[in-house]
Amino acid sequence: ATPMAMVVASGRGARRGIFLKGHHALETSRRVDTVVLDKTGTLTTGRMTVVSVLGSAPDLVLERAAAVERGSEHAIASAVVSSVPVPAEPEDFVALPGLGARAVVSGVAVTVGRPDLVGEVPASLAAEWATAEEAGHTVVAVGWDARVQGAVVLADEVKLSAAPAVAALKQAGLHPVLLSGDHERAARHVADAVGIDEVVAGVLPEGKLAFLAARRAAGAVVAMVGDGVNDGPALAAADLGLAVGSGTDVALDAADVILVRDDLTAVPEALALARATHRTIR
Ligand code: ADP
Ligand code: MG
Repeated sequence: ATPMAMVVASGRGARRGIFLKGHHALETSRRVDTVVLDKTGTLTTGRMTVVSVLGSAPDLVLERAAAVERGSEHAIASAVVSSVPVPAEPEDFVALPGLGARAVVSGVAVTVGRPDLVGEVPASLAAEWATAEEAGHTVVAVGWDARVQGAVVLADEVKLSAAPAVAALKQAGLHPVLLSGDHERAARHVADAVGIDEVVAGVLPEGKLAFLAARRAAGAVVAMVGDGVNDGPALAAADLGLAVGSGTDVALDAADVILVRDDLTAVPEALALARATHRTIR
């Protein structure tokens, strides 16, 4: 695009809350054919609420989980922390991005996160666990003494703008994919609600990067849309990284396009803007 066309596009974008970082963002935006979207905080609001607590000592499970999560930045963490009046002060906190977190609470080493981080789901919890996941909830394991002692079940809401945004992407001939570290069942629930067919779920952070690399190697030009702390590497690994909403510093740094409008229709709009800018100079 000519410098003038780029200036015009930047002005139009800025008024709509769309900021493309330089020439690369504009040129790549118009070549994108695959749009990969993160689930939590991107397709959903990320304002999670605790629905229930599983385990034989649910109060203890929630209290210990809340103490650990005081140190985390994940959407899961703020929901868990605010569900307890006064969470204990954790010691030796370790964040495990895309997995969970670990800390010592009142002398006990507690792990919160994906079940595979903690141990096997006990048979006594299996039925309730599966039911919660089928309802589209995120189920977070809480363990100590090398065992899963219970779980926190959380609900999240799909953004009102998500389905219209996905429809607009498809209308523009782009292929949407939902990429999530959450369980397949929870991811599928959101995908169905917004109209996405392809779901890649249950993947670790490295798995997200491997998926993006594989798609690019197969010839796709891939945009990655994300928000949170955990999304920085994925945004950088795509051809084009788009950070939505408030975002974190890490995500904003890694992104090529920043969408300050907390409305997902800014995604198809940003890509359309780039295409229109290209056309004006032909
Ligand atoms: P998504 O891809 O949906 O945005 P993430 O990759 O951030 O999800 O996290 C994947 C999974 O890892 C979550 O569904 C949860 O099971 C676990 N997890 C990540 N961070 C935390 C945390 N701070 N506390 C508990 N569980 C976590
Ligand atoms: Mg996320």
